[in-house]
Amino acid sequence: MLPAMTSNSDFFDDVNHYFDMASRHTDVAPDILSQIRACNAVYRLRFPVRRDSGEIVVVEAYRAEHSHHRLPTKGGIRYALDVAQSEVMALSALMTYKCAVVDVPFGGAKGGVCVDPRTESTSFLERVTRRYTTELIRKRFIGPDVDVPAPDVGTGEREMGWIYDTYKAYGPDTLNGLACVTGKAISLHGVAGRREATGLGAVIALEQFLAEKEDVRPLGLETGLAGKRIIVPGLGKVGLHAARAAIERDAIVVGVSVSDGALYDEGGLDVEAVLLHRGETGSLRGFPEARYSADPDAILEEACDVLIPSALEHQITADNAPRIQAKVIVEAANGPVDPEADAILREMGTVVVPDVYANAGGVVVSYFEWIKNLSHVSFERMTRRYQQIANNRLLQVLTHLTGKTLPPEDAALLLQAPNEIDFVRTALENTMAISYEKIREPWKRRALPDLRTSAYVHAIESVASAYTLDGIFP
Ligand code: GLU
Repeated sequence: MLPAMTSNSDFFDDVNHYFDMASRHTDVAPDILSQIRACNAVYRLRFPVRRDSGEIVVVEAYRAEHSHHRLPTKGGIRYALDVAQSEVMALSALMTYKCAVVDVPFGGAKGGVCVDPRTESTSFLERVTRRYTTELIRKRFIGPDVDVPAPDVGTGEREMGWIYDTYKAYGPDTLNGLACVTGKAISLHGVAGRREATGLGAVIALEQFLAEKEDVRPLGLETGLAGKRIIVPGLGKVGLHAARAAIERDAIVVGVSVSDGALYDEGGLDVEAVLLHRGETGSLRGFPEARYSADPDAILEEACDVLIPSALEHQITADNAPRIQAKVIVEAANGPVDPEADAILREMGTVVVPDVYANAGGVVVSYFEWIKNLSHVSFERMTRRYQQIANNRLLQVLTHLTGKTLPPEDAALLLQAPNEIDFVRTALENTMAISYEKIREPWKRRALPDLRTSAYVHAIESVASAYTLDGIFP
């Protein structure tokens, strides 16, 4: 059997620790709290898959559905050798709270498969994915109205495509089958902007925090992202897009890391050139002018204004928390700061923008993809041309009233019709802004200790109201 290492055995306890800290600040009845806190269902699977060599290995896998207060449940599938039950349960719980914070109508779920996608062949990974999907179908742990997976660490559009194709082959839901999984390629009915959504969402979350003078000034920082020195530990699927979005907004990325090394340059790194260098040489080592370290964790302690940990959980612990120099930590990964570190950072006055809000961009855009698949129409199809016509009319009226003609570049701007990506990005921005207000408001008004507690309070109250209103308890 492929080895399943049991690190992260306490990750679910960590999430419940945050839950318990927050629940004290709510009026939710203890019986409802204990129902929300519990992980409703965990499906643990072991199935045989043939390697290319002919050898048969037994693969261990999980799907946890934390909360069914809204259906379908929703959450990614992680491929990594150290996937463990507690980790998958923790991540499914985070999905429940995350969906509640950004107000998308899902319960939380998460899957994990103990395989190493970096060393296994594509054909082996395809067989694993198809078999895993088949097992989920057999037990009704997948379906557009049941449980909808998405990418996570070690998976992406390719795996989502295999999942969709397997689901379709079994044909349990021919009309809505497309919505059985999100994070698909555009050519397989995915939605524009899903790939960058988590990283972009994390930067939008940071922008929300940095907009409030009253919160930012005590840290010795000015408002706004421009000029902020940022370190992105974990320049992967999420981190890369976070770095790009930060640079687009005039922040300076001074440090990055990947699994085998880190780079720091206080003058700012050209992230695209770093990627190119790594692609050509296989490593970050030797990138001109920047300081290289073979220890990726060292980057966490370098000088910067903002850290955006974007890869795995438990990056910041009691061991390194006292040496963190960043004033703000944006949890683009799930659970990068453990509870001990969280307490130390709070004492130090460091602000943590918590995962249940900061990395919710992925599931927000997954929600848009799910809607698009269920409605069988793309976002711009019904409105694009109409908007163009409406804008053109506006231009004509303006010209008629003022007797002036707009300069061609202004007219072109006005006549530009929105594409799907424009709808997705603006809707993501809008969701992140509204949700930030919802978590900042109790933080300030009820004098809660930090943004994480406040986000959990908001999530708990929102899930509790679903139970109460739906009359789920007899
Ligand atoms: N795996 C991502 C997360 O942790 C995305 C989940 C989804 O899109 O359903 O939020």
